[in-house]
Amino acid sequence: MSTYTELLDHIQSLKIIDTHEHLPFEADRPKETDVLEEWLAHYFSSDLVSAGLSDEGLAAARDSRRDILERWRIIEPYWHAAESTGYGRPLSLGARDLYGIDEINADTIQPLNEAFKAARDRGGHYNFVLKEKSGIALSIRDAMPDPYTETDDPFVFTMQMGNFICPTHYNEMRAAGAKVGMEIHSLTDWMEAARRTIETHMDGKTRVVCLKSALAYMRNLRYDKVTYADAERAFNEVFEDRNLADWRAPIKAAKVLEDFMMHHVCRIADDNKLVHQFHTGIQEGNGNFITDSNPTLLTNLIIEYRNVRFDLFHMGYPYMLELGNMAKNFRNVFIDMCWGHAVSPTAARNALVEWLDAVPANKIMAFGGDYCFIDGVYGHQLMARENVAASLAQKVTDGTFSLTRAKEIANWVFIDNPKNLFNLDRFLEGQ
Ligand SMILES: [Zn+2]
Repeated sequence: MSTYTELLDHIQSLKIIDTHEHLPFEADRPKETDVLEEWLAHYFSSDLVSAGLSDEGLAAARDSRRDILERWRIIEPYWHAAESTGYGRPLSLGARDLYGIDEINADTIQPLNEAFKAARDRGGHYNFVLKEKSGIALSIRDAMPDPYTETDDPFVFTMQMGNFICPTHYNEMRAAGAKVGMEIHSLTDWMEAARRTIETHMDGKTRVVCLKSALAYMRNLRYDKVTYADAERAFNEVFEDRNLADWRAPIKAAKVLEDFMMHHVCRIADDNKLVHQFHTGIQEGNGNFITDSNPTLLTNLIIEYRNVRFDLFHMGYPYMLELGNMAKNFRNVFIDMCWGHAVSPTAARNALVEWLDAVPANKIMAFGGDYCFIDGVYGHQLMARENVAASLAQKVTDGTFSLTRAKEIANWVFIDNPKNLFNLDRFLEGQ
């Protein structure tokens, strides 16, 4: 048996932790869609667009009221161009291993759709995909439902504070304040409302395990240290007459207010020993500014909030070396490969080979599905297991470490590291 096969067999036996998902609860999964509408919600749709598909073509492909074969014809050349990317492969793997369809094409798109709908309508599909097929013990869902609720789905939750950091309308602030029993009149009120919103979930009675910031989609990750007075001036602008009336359009708050509130949220995270997950690297969709999401822009927060553990997402792609350097340098920086195996399987394998030379093995989380639809998770976790097996096999073959050490690292990156970072033991009892 080859080293790779032996490692893959070992990794396939693991019940893994999934550090990041956007899945709806199964009970809330839309019923009126079909396989194309659901599977083109994100990721592969972006590759179809970069392959040349028009915006109108994508909108038509996503419209499940129209004939599926007609829609397939619109996207077929772009699908064929992109099918072997990291975004394409989870769909091929899902079709094959969840629905028994070996290749997605004009002859199989209708049978695939029928199998997809039958599985959805039968129920129990989350258990089948997440537990039986993917071997996932627990997923961290981004974000918690608001208002907070739980279901039987195997999720714990992040909490997003973006609406406190980038408020856009007084209405929205008033609603956020009301949830924690406050009227909002001043920056001090707003800071207190942010603290109460987080600390409500710190009594161990809910399944919130960390904070998450997705703001690298909207602005860059450099949060300057600003004065209370400057932030207060920016805060008060939200209350100017031209912004105050209910019917006024949302505004973009000044950057100083965002910077100030991010520091405040990090302070609350410190007080509550909360891990802070950050989006870094590639943004989903087409046409964003990659330089906004360079993880090195977070360095001032990482140094100042030295007791807050920063879980930096998406391998920092394409800033993998920068991210590796940060995890090597700072006790409180962790590498999270969520989404990464689908972004580029080769980048994921190469980055892990590099990191294992430079970064202690207790700092790396190997898998987060990061899907908005359930069927994508299966293929992505399979690719993650294969990639980690390939990277570890390379280290064993080149003499860096033994097969025994490789298996130990596999256990750490898929299970122990996320379990320890997010303190997940209490959710895993009995599994
Ligand atoms: Zn995500």
